[in-house]
Amino acid sequence: MEEKKNQNSNNIAMVECPFCNKPIEAPDKADVIFTCPNCHKELITYDKVERKKETLRNERIKQEQIYKRYKKKFKWGSIIVLIISLYLYTKNTSDYTYNNPRQQDIQMAVKNYLKQNLDDPDSYKSASWYGFTYNKADKTYSIWHQYRHRNEYNAVQLETQFFTLDSQKNVIQVRDGEDFVFN
Ligand SMILES: [Zn+2]
Repeated sequence: MEEKKNQNSNNIAMVECPFCNKPIEAPDKADVIFTCPNCHKELITYDKVERKKETLRNERIKQEQIYKRYKKKFKWGSIIVLIISLYLYTKNTSDYTYNNPRQQDIQMAVKNYLKQNLDDPDSYKSASWYGFTYNKADKTYSIWHQYRHRNEYNAVQLETQFFTLDSQKNVIQVRDGEDFVFN
């Protein structure tokens, strides 16, 4: 009894014995083995607050793992979206932008066509190119070309022509600029 009185109240907790269900005094400290003063069964203390904290900690770790997994998936998801958008962007622009290799190929094909079909191929002089288009529906290319050449009367002539090429870069149609003006 003397000892009990000297104990600080902070070190004692009122608990219910799980065996006899009587309220008993227990050391207010986790993992202390003691005996129930009532039924004399061996008991062990545990820290309710600490256990709760541990449960919360475990739950938080689990949530973080889920979040990390989600974040990883999201990261890969956004990288894939970025690649697809870049692909679509370059695909779209390559059909219409001025400086792209396909336009150069088409210009070369038109030049070759002219060198084979002009009266005086050596007189050919490129002036300008514009309106390069890839027509997705029928897979043809078209481009406007202005050039000078010496005609059959030996006169220098400026031509403005609209060339259409198939997917194999063969010129399939040539129309003069005037055809469009008066049509
Ligand atoms: Zn008991």
